[in-house]
Amino acid sequence: METIYPLQVTYCPICTLPVEYCEYGPDFNACKKWIANNCPEAYPELAEEFEKIKLGEEPAPIEEAKAPVQAPTKKVKFEGPKQVKIALLKRGATKNITAISGLKDFGIDLKAEAKNIRKKFACGCSVVDDSIELQGNSVNQVYDHLSEIYPDMKLVIEEEGGKKKVNKGSKK
Ligand SMILES: [Zn+2]
Repeated sequence: METIYPLQVTYCPICTLPVEYCEYGPDFNACKKWIANNCPEAYPELAEEFEKIKLGEEPAPIEEAKAPVQAPTKKVKFEGPKQVKIALLKRGATKNITAISGLKDFGIDLKAEAKNIRKKFACGCSVVDDSIELQGNSVNQVYDHLSEIYPDMKLVIEEEGGKKKVNKGSKK
């Protein structure tokens, strides 16, 4: 144990900071146990707690205010405006699928909408994951259908990787 002289800086072996800075260190409670036995005079206001620690009690939990300040959580950035994408997918050499994605973002019940489309276009139509898929190339019909019933919806037609047609959509 090292001898403590007035004005001499005592370094805490737990956090390696000068003892008077332990309270800002990573684990003040761990330091307290060492301080209690070696230099309790560094924290006169904790004399009572040090006595308890020396008797084998665990240090009191660290107050919230002394906990390290955490950086505020970044808000998740909203990725672009909501839009519905109508895409022509190729399945095999000849089969076309018209896939509609993004409807869920508008709070549309996919199963109900698939049913509407099935009736209107008299074609096979099913919900696949978060998209509605129609058998065959019905891209333009789906575009007209959706822009008719959802005039505010931003619709994007995607064909072979490129955007072909974008309706105005109405910005709010
Ligand atoms: Zn320390």
